[in-house]
Amino acid sequence: MNIILLGPPGAGKGTQARILVDERRMVQLSTGDMLREARTSGTEMGKRVAEVMDRGDLVTDEIVIGLIREKLEGGESSGGYIFDGFPRTLAQADALGALLDDVGQDLDAVVEMQVDDDALVARITARSTCANCGEVYNDHSKPIPADGKCTNCGATEFKRRADDNEESLRTRLMAYYKQTSPLIGYYYAKGDLRSVNGLGEIGEVAGGIKTALG
Ligand code: AMP
Repeated sequence: MNIILLGPPGAGKGTQARILVDERRMVQLSTGDMLREARTSGTEMGKRVAEVMDRGDLVTDEIVIGLIREKLEGGESSGGYIFDGFPRTLAQADALGALLDDVGQDLDAVVEMQVDDDALVARITARSTCANCGEVYNDHSKPIPADGKCTNCGATEFKRRADDNEESLRTRLMAYYKQTSPLIGYYYAKGDLRSVNGLGEIGEVAGGIKTALG
């Protein structure tokens, strides 16, 4: 099963993708994670996109489509792929359809995670992740344990994303509404869209996604 998790920044796509990876042995393909990795490893592409990402704008279609192409052509996932944060434009959506065709695969569902904008701001400004495994924490709903150890891997270092501040978030939200939200209509018309309430507890949202996927 290949699925897209679609939703604004802070909707919980990464958190839910990790649950699907654990439960269904799916492979998470997050273009945001790939781009952050390219930045920290100091590749030319990483250097080029750093400023764009910190501002909260989208990097070019060419770059992210190239990243996804590499993964799809280079690997195999018996449990299927979760596309997290990709596609974000209509051009990327078309390219994903063509890439999946090329490797003889289909898109099974697009899960739209619905969250109101006030909740997004609150979530993002309180978000941190484990520096080792990427487990996501939230100062209010899922704080870092009192012993300072990640519940998933035991590491003791945590980080906040450079673009998780109110100014970048405003740009990221605008990019979502201008460039990404048309994908909701695009996938609805294709018959692939399943909408899920992304506002509840992590487990409740996971249950909603499970029901939506059948
Ligand atoms: P994310 O981790 O998905 O929130 O992505 C972080 C940032 O990476 C975004 O604000 C964009 O600058 C960039 N990015 C990630 N995925 C894409 C994509 N599919 N298209 C364009 N830019 C992206």
